Amino acid sequence: MARIVMKFGGTSVANLERIYNVARHVKREVDAGHEVAVVVSAMSGKTNELVDWVQTMPKVAGADSPFYDAREYDAVVASGEQVTSGLLAIALQSMGVNARSWQGWQIPIKTDNAHGAARIQEIDGEDIIRRMGEGQVAVVAGFQGIGPDNRIATLGRGGSDTSAVAIAAGVKADRCDIYTDVDGVYTTDPRIEPKARRLKKIAFEEMLEMASLGAKVLQVRSVELAMVHKVRTFVRSSFEDPDAPGMGDLMNPPGTLICDEEEIVEQEVVTGIAYAKDEAQISLRRLADRPGVSAAIFGPLAEAHINVDMIVQNISEDGTRTDMTFTVPSGDVDKALAVLGENKDTIGYDVLQSEKGLVKVSVIGIGMRSHAGVAATAFRALAEKGINIKAITTSEIKISILIDGPYAELAVRTLHSCYGLDKN
Ligand code: ADP
Ligand code: ASP
Ligand code: MG
Repeated sequence: MARIVMKFGGTSVANLERIYNVARHVKREVDAGHEVAVVVSAMSGKTNELVDWVQTMPKVAGADSPFYDAREYDAVVASGEQVTSGLLAIALQSMGVNARSWQGWQIPIKTDNAHGAARIQEIDGEDIIRRMGEGQVAVVAGFQGIGPDNRIATLGRGGSDTSAVAIAAGVKADRCDIYTDVDGVYTTDPRIEPKARRLKKIAFEEMLEMASLGAKVLQVRSVELAMVHKVRTFVRSSFEDPDAPGMGDLMNPPGTLICDEEEIVEQEVVTGIAYAKDEAQISLRRLADRPGVSAAIFGPLAEAHINVDMIVQNISEDGTRTDMTFTVPSGDVDKALAVLGENKDTIGYDVLQSEKGLVKVSVIGIGMRSHAGVAATAFRALAEKGINIKAITTSEIKISILIDGPYAELAVRTLHSCYGLDKN
């Protein structure tokens, strides 16, 4: 007997038939004698609709600012998961499986106060553990918890992955299965590159980079938690026949295992390619080249909660003036330009330029640590396709390249094939 947490994403619970199919997956594990907790997302598209309602309401109400109360945003957008948790519990009960739904506050899943992007701080797994021991399946609404202000808090988009891994850690599960609409983690997004290959295993560090550089198959925070708490996490498909051979395999279920790098025997130099759309670049031209200028730029941006990513500064030619370029999400450009405009005198620059609609493509692999020439291969391959590089940043295990938006798919495919990721 094992203790298993099963998470089902939006497409897996998109309608009543699919919720019923999810119930069959759950019943398989229950019938095998395991203790099971399930985490569900909202039906696909539902959270987007709810977010859109919240953002539109101030305009409908004639308010002159698009401001809304983040606590009410959470009250609204958390509701999608409440619906699917109840529906799945009903489906399970109709199959004769003892099940009940749980909202985040009922467990409770305690978070910090950052409404809209809250972090889980503590999970009291005692009640669920006891009931699982009595044979009851806990169906938990993902994406939500309760803040110190005693109000519902949501965990940021894609947050049900994090709910699942956190609960798995909280109840000391033997395994956490993230069921989605693909049958594992691929060398790149299979929707962009049909030749992408499924990985049998991927190291935590690589999955962290893939997720934070745009591969939305797992929320970044869920990977962090899995790494810290050593949760045995698999990504697998909910669309396979729940009763197909091997689906109930305890040690090696079908899918991709996220694990320590030591567990991966044949480590490739490059493991995957990720991309993030809707990046924008901002440049400050003829900037004073003096101590404190970076702090003068990025301090006010941080205070305005603008997430700055790639930063490139030129070495000054004459020691007096230089150029600085950095990227932010396209949606934050106007706010960032306003902040930089307000601080023009303290920063000291000539011109401010910006460009939206860019894409960041990234090459990721632990093997890069010990191999030279990985970046040069990418630059050559992109050059052969006529793709211009606007900025580059690197770390030990990744190279990120900023390019024009329309070249995104070509760049992903080019990088994917230049490292032979499309070959077995
Ligand atoms: P869910 O609703 O189940 O949480 P998501 O849409 O959040 O599912 O994540 C699954 C999607 O992630 C896939 O449909 C796929 O298009 C995308 N994806 C991006 N990069 C990858 C990758 N490297 N491997 C697998 N899927 C990826
Ligand atoms: N429903 C939420 C979202 O769409 C959480 C999740 O699906 O993980 O972001
Ligand atoms: Mg998701």
